[in-house]
Amino acid sequence: MEVSTWPAILDLLGNLAFPMILLGSLLLRSSSSNSPAGPNLPFGLGRSKAKFQMEPNTGITFDDVAGVDEAKQDFQEIVEFLRTLEKFAAVGARIPKGVLLVGPPGTGKTLLAKAIAGEAGVPFFSLSGSEFIEMFVGVGASRVRDLFNKAKANSPCLVFIDEIDAVGRQRGTGIGGGNDEREQTLNQLLTEMDGFSGNSGVIVIAATNRPEILDSALLRPGRFDRQVSVGLPDIRGREEILKVHSKNKKLDKDVSLGVIAMRTPGFSGADLANLMNEAAILAGRRGKDKITMKEVDDSIDRIVAGMEGTKMVDGKSKMLVAYHEVGHAICVTLTPGHDPVQKVTLIPRGQARGLTWFLPGEDPTLISKQQLFARIVAGLGGQAAEEVIFGEPEITTSAAGDLQQITQIARQMVTTYGMSEIGPWVLIDPTVQSSDVVLRMLSRNSMSEKLAEDIDSSVKNIIDNAYEIAKAHIKNNREAMDKIVDLLLEKETLTGDEFRVILSEFTDVSINNTKRTPAREMIEV
Ligand code: ADP
Ligand code: ZN
Ligand code: MG
Repeated sequence: MEVSTWPAILDLLGNLAFPMILLGSLLLRSSSSNSPAGPNLPFGLGRSKAKFQMEPNTGITFDDVAGVDEAKQDFQEIVEFLRTLEKFAAVGARIPKGVLLVGPPGTGKTLLAKAIAGEAGVPFFSLSGSEFIEMFVGVGASRVRDLFNKAKANSPCLVFIDEIDAVGRQRGTGIGGGNDEREQTLNQLLTEMDGFSGNSGVIVIAATNRPEILDSALLRPGRFDRQVSVGLPDIRGREEILKVHSKNKKLDKDVSLGVIAMRTPGFSGADLANLMNEAAILAGRRGKDKITMKEVDDSIDRIVAGMEGTKMVDGKSKMLVAYHEVGHAICVTLTPGHDPVQKVTLIPRGQARGLTWFLPGEDPTLISKQQLFARIVAGLGGQAAEEVIFGEPEITTSAAGDLQQITQIARQMVTTYGMSEIGPWVLIDPTVQSSDVVLRMLSRNSMSEKLAEDIDSSVKNIIDNAYEIAKAHIKNNREAMDKIVDLLLEKETLTGDEFRVILSEFTDVSINNTKRTPAREMIEV
């Protein structure tokens, strides 16, 4: 099983923003977080020995990169420099040498760098930070030297260093000794950056998703002294990116890119590209000549929740999963502030044996206390149903994923968002999230014991309250649940509307189901 470490703040936000937080049995976060780095053969064997790549012409333009208008604007100037170096040199302008491109994976950093080279019509040299780090001391440094020599000989040009954090992390704090190879490589990189003058026509762009761990020497004037950020795209950005990636695809007229954008909060550009490709493959496999909304929907489900598994056989365990999921769905529907249920299904996907999906009503970049609390109640709905219906001794392990999620949310409410009686201050040092073991230990120790206890008890309070509410929802709606579970067992999947129709025979379901402002208008505020 995947052991999820404490997420960075952004990670949680991303997590919350991820479509329709899946309240699934045994659902462990899968997709984005666990990309194994591939087979790691000893002594760098089996690795390609390519030192760096050089593309004389990337063929990529700004039109290929969508939804990151600000970054494009920031880079317009760099393109200008590369195009007309002499003009700037003539008036004595000092041209920037290094730009740090910051953003999460898949947001188009590499693509953007290639587009800059493409727009300027200059060669593109690239090298990934992780490729620097070899078993043999000195190899990385000599690669850096080679790279810069080649680049200078081909000026004007653009040098792209991906994953610069692999070489550029803060020196001298690592436990277990420094890494000689890395330090040498970093020093060489600094020397090279200092060695060429601003007007040599070599511009270096480095990408990272963790600027905070970079050695401060890298960020000094004359090195990577400019930063450009790209974030996950908002709904309009997603629609633009979808446009780019459906250009060469045949779409049925029922496919609305706006609707897809609405259903995919938290998707990066790479996720969206992948989505359209999956949908095309699916359409091909189904023998269709066009991609329909069905293929897109199925691909979203698959990307978010994993591959469809084999169906459960009828029996106690299927019944239990059915109650568990309906428990979620009822709490989703009856707790004020929650987004509406989109569907409930017993068809297993990824690690989950059942899933309750909800439709994000708006781009979840701003989340209220009420909404967070509603997510905790909804997240506990599964276990609450197991306890209320089958009795405490029968509670199963299926809520493990739910509990992990809701505990994270509750803890962040207290420590990060100032949403508890402790008050509005940040109770964890950002370095807690640092990947550096020593920094993490130090910051833990700087908190008073009393405060640590208060945090724990506030978190517990929130969760205890939520669990009581969840159990009350289940108890008060027992009859409705039985009826919904019967139908769910028969049909395997219920749409949100089918679910609400039955529930509304027993109770008022209008609370979270009022027509929402479409997301498009929401973000225009
Ligand atoms: P990063 O370097 O930030 O991890 P990449 O540039 O490698 O991301 O993106 C991977 C792929 O995802 C790109 O080749 C492209 O197909 C798609 N993609 C990512 N961001 C965008 C975007 N903003 N516009 C269009 N396509 C994108
Ligand atoms: Zn669950
Ligand atoms: Mg990249």
